Amino acid sequence: MALTLSKKAQSVKPSSTLAITAKAKEMKANGIDVVGFGAGEPDFNTPDNVCDAAISAIKSGFTKYTPASGTNELKVAICKKFKDFNGLDYKPNQIVISNGGKHSLSNIFDAILNPGDEVIIPAPYWLSYPEMVKLSDGIPVYIEGSKDHGYKVTAEQIQEAITEKTKAFILNSPSNPTGMIYTLEELEAIADVVVRNNIYVVADEMYEYLIYGEEKHISIASLNEEIYKRTITCSGLSKSYSMTGWRIGYTGSSVEIAELMDSVQSHATSNPNSIAQKAALEALVGPQDAVEAMKKEFNERRLYMYQRISNMSHISCLEPKGAFYIFIDCSDALTMKYKGEVIQTADRLTEILLEDKEVAVVPCADFGFPNHIRLSYAISMQQIEKGLDRIESFTKELEA
Ligand SMILES: *Cc1c(COP(=O)(O)O)cnc(C)c1O
Repeated sequence: MALTLSKKAQSVKPSSTLAITAKAKEMKANGIDVVGFGAGEPDFNTPDNVCDAAISAIKSGFTKYTPASGTNELKVAICKKFKDFNGLDYKPNQIVISNGGKHSLSNIFDAILNPGDEVIIPAPYWLSYPEMVKLSDGIPVYIEGSKDHGYKVTAEQIQEAITEKTKAFILNSPSNPTGMIYTLEELEAIADVVVRNNIYVVADEMYEYLIYGEEKHISIASLNEEIYKRTITCSGLSKSYSMTGWRIGYTGSSVEIAELMDSVQSHATSNPNSIAQKAALEALVGPQDAVEAMKKEFNERRLYMYQRISNMSHISCLEPKGAFYIFIDCSDALTMKYKGEVIQTADRLTEILLEDKEVAVVPCADFGFPNHIRLSYAISMQQIEKGLDRIESFTKELEA
């Protein structure tokens, strides 16, 4: 028997976002004043009441195994949140709490996919979806949202991509990386296609609280009974409560799927961290003013960035409606010359920005959209101003 390794594991692409972040960190460590627009997490501290709940959990000895799919009290709180915020009726036996939203998603694919099953992923997509699908033996099938449709896909596109092997469609609204959200009409049309073809929807609603302006979050599962049955709704505490390090995510699904995920999780990781579950409980049932304060701050940054970038030449963006990202179209800039060199790719543009302008951004080839970059506004306004000044000076140096 040769000492070969798993072909499946070897086929996974390491995250490119992390590579840029690592390089920016290294530059910072060397005393270079890099502005990092790469952040995929809120820059605020976890709210005090949440931290206090965790400290009490430790002090009172709530430090042992819990049921594999999470404590009943947290499931009850999640059901209430699903009811009040999402208009969704789930019972505690339909809830599985996991080690972060990513773990929830990976449990979902483990529960529904058989080898060769296809999962339709709209591009631009969050870079982990294709790799997760592959790790669960599924096959990613991509469709593209066009810029003039807010980078969103249409029900017709989904219909066209469906084959006998299609098992699920991934819906991420608000979207990482675009910040776009699907409207009620769009969701209704998608729900029709899903129900007609009898496939699942994996609804990643991680950024559901972070929607700005007039629009409201709509959970596709809340539209009617038929779509509810076919949807696995996934959310978590990471982005809304600035709790990325605590690792709590959760799903609402049919009892059947919940039981499968529970069983897979019971062997893979056992329960999510007991202390983090107490903290999550406080986050959901305690005062919500910290969430509101973060949202207000994000909104100010969003408007400022959108306005500044819209006024720059050779790059453009749509106004993001949610999450904390701005998705920038660099197609024009890529045809231009910088210091005599035609830039050509967003990867090269990212390199130039980092090396010459000391600004870290995320190139989006791994998000399925090669001519675009993603900027996060989970950094201070002061940093944003400085970073945008640098990007602007770069755009002014571009030549035909
Ligand atoms: C951050 C994120 C998640 C999950 O985050 P966790 O840190 O694992 O809770 C899921 N989906 C999207 C689109 C995200 O950006």
